[in-house]
This record gives sequence, structure tokens and C-alpha cells, in this order.
Amino acid sequence: MRRLRDLNIMYLKGVGPARAELFRKELGIVTYHDLLHHFPSHYVDRSRFYRIADFPDGADAEMPAAVQVRGRFVTFTTQGEGAKRRLVGLFTDGTATMEVVWFQRVNAIRDAYRPGTEYVLFGRPQMFNRRWSMVHPEVDSPAKAEASTGMRGTYPLTDKLRNRGVTSRTIFNLVTAALSQVTEMVDPLPPSVVSRYNLMSLTEALNAIHNPRSAEELQRARLRLKFEELFFLQLNIQRYSRTRRNGIAGVRFTRVGQFFNMFYSTCLPFELTDAQKRVIREIRADMNSGRQMNRLLQGDVGSGKTLVALMCMLIAIDNGYQACLMAPTEILATQHYETLRSMAAAIGVNIRLLTGSTRKKERDAIHAALEDGSLHILVGTHAVIEDNVRFRSLGLAVIDEQHRFGVVQRARLWKKSEIPPHVLVMTATPIPRTLAMTVYGDLDVSVIDRLPPGRKPITTLLRFDAQRQQVYRALGKQLAMGRQAYIVYPLIEENEKLDLRSLEEGYDLIRDTFPSYRVAFVHGKMKPSEKDFQMQLFASGQAHILVATTVIEVGVNVPNASVMIIENAERFGLSQLHQLRGRVGRGADQSYCILMSKYKIAKETRRRLEIMTSTTDGFVVAEADLKMRGPGDLEGTLQSGIPFDLHIANLATDGQIIQLARDSVDAILDDDPDLSHPEHKETERELKAQSALRIDFSLIS
Ligand code: ADP
Ligand code: MG
Repeated sequence: MRRLRDLNIMYLKGVGPARAELFRKELGIVTYHDLLHHFPSHYVDRSRFYRIADFPDGADAEMPAAVQVRGRFVTFTTQGEGAKRRLVGLFTDGTATMEVVWFQRVNAIRDAYRPGTEYVLFGRPQMFNRRWSMVHPEVDSPAKAEASTGMRGTYPLTDKLRNRGVTSRTIFNLVTAALSQVTEMVDPLPPSVVSRYNLMSLTEALNAIHNPRSAEELQRARLRLKFEELFFLQLNIQRYSRTRRNGIAGVRFTRVGQFFNMFYSTCLPFELTDAQKRVIREIRADMNSGRQMNRLLQGDVGSGKTLVALMCMLIAIDNGYQACLMAPTEILATQHYETLRSMAAAIGVNIRLLTGSTRKKERDAIHAALEDGSLHILVGTHAVIEDNVRFRSLGLAVIDEQHRFGVVQRARLWKKSEIPPHVLVMTATPIPRTLAMTVYGDLDVSVIDRLPPGRKPITTLLRFDAQRQQVYRALGKQLAMGRQAYIVYPLIEENEKLDLRSLEEGYDLIRDTFPSYRVAFVHGKMKPSEKDFQMQLFASGQAHILVATTVIEVGVNVPNASVMIIENAERFGLSQLHQLRGRVGRGADQSYCILMSKYKIAKETRRRLEIMTSTTDGFVVAEADLKMRGPGDLEGTLQSGIPFDLHIANLATDGQIIQLARDSVDAILDDDPDLSHPEHKETERELKAQSALRIDFSLIS
């Protein structure tokens, strides 16, 4: 029995120090474990031969990544000079001809193959100058090709490796050599789990994934390897969350007192929704449990999270503690500050705002009031977690739109008081369940799943440039009724100049089209003071139209705004579109979101936009986004996303396996929390080996 991580690929025949270094640099392969977990990206049926005449026509026709052809070289010619020097073989299989090209090892290859002899070529056909060609194919004798039947994997490679003569076949040969050396591998999954789910052993699975005898066998191998990957991901997360649950004491908020009750009975302008009430109960119980709260509050845009946050902060104050609320931008922090003040001013809560642009005098006053305890709630940006900000007794930290806060910032909060404060993270990005289980496996989740009553669902329409005049006429009607409108342009870094120009042109066009209305204008490159001024124009109703880039994406609350026009909507992701759409529909009026797009868009893009027109449910949108783009792209998970590279499992599509892995991890840890039973020895060892390679998960919450 061998452990794959203990064996260096230098032990393999043909891998000297230079090659080993090349593999390390290019593919991160150092040990047998790395090599055997470098899986084929796809498979080709080696029993099938293609005819050159049958290669499909057209550049984007469906063609397997690699095919097998049997035939003979007619001629070889050397073409080009210096770096462009190449060997071109004319190859025919009797149905048609193609060119076979080598850019490297020209002389050696010219000597190795003879015109007129039969060969089997394996490679990727490409149409070049209206002719089929194949670059650097694998070349076999027919006898050897026949010997390798079944499915053959194609391995991911880099250009550098290819230039050094490494082919998919090279990797396959190394893999085969490693597999024949290590016929019995130590399995990191507990035997009970392997048998319970009828999984392949590690040895079986690795043999099968590199050399599957059938599609079924390949599928079983993939299942086993995905399971293992997700099992260790869950184990990592669960181990920390269990430590946190058992170990980290939290302040106890035992009572609901005067601030909360007074607010509830005199300041609340409306009835709380049932969802809000339930969530407040959950949070209250959690803050009185004796352990530190780490909770994610999910709720669609406009579902009333801010109010929930305020009421939770009042509980903290009732218990003699302070609270803080952090937002990702100055605009948002300011808006929260104003909202909280207007809601809670009447009950005598002391609230202050601290941002990067707070003046020194005000800053000093805030520091003093925090330390003597007279300041109850501090609202701010990242400025709040700077080292010189010291609370007398911070009991609750609320973080709005957490995806703008990195892991490290959240960790810094812990240093703000002796007993770590309760943490409530609010997000409007609805995170699908499978992803939440993985990314936030150690956070408890509360969901506000209902919008306040009386909101009319936003009508979302897809319109093309040719319909612009109609769109503007409809906008004119809304403006005439006294409503306000957002017009949003994409601003993407790579193309900044062009984007800025289209934004400015859009601004001019709008001013020309609606000369009797005031138009505000914001983009990310403006000075903060100018930006605030423009936003304020719109928020106060002095400006009727706001032309903006995505700076308005999060949190801005202008209930009178009823129209959101998104230009070049095809360039936005679904979750981002949903966030933008959430800026309207906050008042009692019917609101509209118009997605403007080029007429010619890819099918996929069109489907994406149609999801927006067909639903206003953030969870449906997020699920679709996850399916279409993969979890790595899902907005809001970029920073807080899993700090893991998954090799084979896919968070978007392997939800069921995630669930199985999670259940079995739960069962194991219930029974053996330290993984100290002999049957978990190898599991514990693998977990340690993985942790050494990854960032510290405990920093996440
Ligand atoms: P979120 O932060 O979840 O996007 P907000 O807290 O900004 O949502 O709330 C959106 C709007 O809905 C605010 O104007 C708020 O005053 C209002 N609101 C919140 N809760 C209720 C409720 N229970 N009934 C009516 N309106 C509410
Ligand atoms: Mg909000």
C-alpha cells in the first residue's frame, strides 16, 4: 500500500530533474498524487476511424476535439526559416488529403516517418487556408494503434509543454507507468463510506479514469472522485464550523429592552412582514445562545434587511453593548446612516458615520464617544475596522453586501473586542442552496423570503436598439407622471475609454431628448465628492434622470424611481442585472426595467436576458446564473467564494453529490469529531495534507 503524495514523479522512468521542474511549473505536478489527478479533459473512442473526406465542413461544425485517421504520407517538405521553420507532410487516407504540420523537432520527425508506409494519426483536425490540417498529431503504427482500444483520454497541456515535445500520449505513458508501479493505493475515504455508497476504491477509480473500458466505468470513476473531492471540502468546512459552535463563546443578549420596545411601538411606520419577524426571532435566539453568532441574512433587494439589522442592533444596545454597520461604499454607508437616523432618531439612539472622508475633528469625537460608550451605533465603510477604532463594548457587527468585504476584513472584526462580536452578514445576492452549503457551510442562514406587501412586481422587457424611440416615449410618460428613472451603462475595465465615451454620448442623447428634465450623471472614475453630489441630486428628486454606470448597483434607495433602463444589457451577468433591477419597484407604483440590447446576440445571451423577463424571483435568477456561468462567475462569490480549486466536481451541477458528501461528513464527525478512530486515520492524514496547501478556513468567518 502506497500513499500517492509520498512519491515524487522523479521516480518515474524518463522524468529527470529538468522534466520534473517543467511539470511542476506548467501543471503543478510534483507527486504521483498530482499526476494521477491530472484528469483527461475529454475522451475519444479509439475503435473509430474518421475519413478525411467526412470531416465536417465549416469552421464551427461539430467536430470531436481529436480524431483517428489511417493512411500514408505522400511527401514531406520543410518550409519557412528560423522560428517559422516547419515540417509539412501531405497525408492521404484515399478519400482526401490533409497537411500534417510540425513546428518542433523537424529533423528528427523527418527521419522517423517514411512516405508510403501506413500510419495511424491521432489529433485535432483544423481548417486552415481552406484545407484540413493537423498540427503535432500522435503517430502510431497500425499495429500499435489497434492495441490501444477503448476510450482514450486527451490531457490538458500548455503551449510550453507542447513545444518541448510533451503530448497527451506522454502524459498517458507517465500515468500508466505510475499506475503499474502503485497497484495498491491507500484510500483516504473511510472504508465505511466507500462501502455505504458502493463507491469504487481509489485504485480502481484512478485506473478507470485514465483508461476507461466503458462509458459506465468512466462514470463510476468520476462519481467516486467527485465524491472524494466534495467530501474533503465539506470536512474542511464542517471541522471549523463545529469548533466554532462548540468553542467560541459569545456575549449573551438576554433581554429585549427599552430601545427595541419603544422603536417597535412608536417608530415603526408599517407592520413587519412575517418573514422579517421570523428572521428577527432567529437572530435573537442566536444572540442569546452563549456562543458567537455568525449568520448570513439573505433577502432579495427591497425585502427590508436594513430594518431587521436596525432592530437587532437595538437589542445589542438594550443589553449594554454597541453595534456597527459596515457598507462597501461611501455612498451606501451614508445612505444607511441617514436611513437609520431617520428611523431611530426619536428614541434617542446615538448614531454616527465614519468613512474615509470624515474630518479629523469629527473622527476624534467619534473615537472618544466609542471608547466612553456614549456612541451606540457606528455606521461606516472599511474605516470602521481600522486599528485605531476602538469600541468600549462591541456586541454586534452588521456587514452589508458582504461580497465587497474580503475574508481578511471580516476576520479583523474579531479583534475589536475581547469576546468576539456577533456577526450578521447581509446579502441581496440570493445564493443557491448547494452553493450556500459549500461557501457558507459554517454560517447559519436566515432568509427573508417575502417582499413587503403592496409591491407590484416589476415588469421587465427586452428591447433592441431599433426600438429606442418607443422606449424613450414610454420613459417620457413616466417622467410626466413625476417619476424618476435610472439609465445604466456597462463600464468594463478592458474597454474603459470606449465605455466612457458611450456613457457620455448616452448622457448627451438623454439631455437632448428630455430638455425639460434635469439629468444627473455618475461614474466610477469621478471624485467621491462629485459622485455624492450627483447622487444626492437624484436621491433628493431635484434630478429626474440618473445616467450612471454600475456604481448604483448596490443599495441606493429612491422609492420614486420607477424606470430602470439598462443599456448593453447583453454585457451584464444575470445576478448583476437582478441587482440593478432591484433599484426600482421600491414604491407603490408599477415599475419597469427595460433591457436594451443589440439585435444580434448569441442564443445563450438571449436565453439569459429572457430569464430576466420571465421572473423577478432572485433565487430563480441565481440558480440560472449558476447553471449557465458556473459558480466561479456568480456575482458575490468572487471574493468570498471557496478558496479551493475543484478538479473534477462542479458546484453548479453536482448538487446531489454535495448533499451526499455533506451527510456522510456529518455522520462521521458526530461519531468521531477528532477523526481519531483507526478507520479515520487516513482521512485525517489527507485532510492535513490538503490544509497545508490551502488558506486557513477559520479566517472566513
Ligand atoms: P433591502 O436592504 O433588503 O434591499 P431595505 O431595507 O432597503 O431593503 O427596504 C426597502 C424598502 O422597504 C425601504 O424603503 C423600507 O423602508 C421598506 N420596508 C421595509 N420593511 C417593510 C415592511 N415590513 N413593510 C413595508 N415597507 C417596508
Ligand atoms: Mg439594502
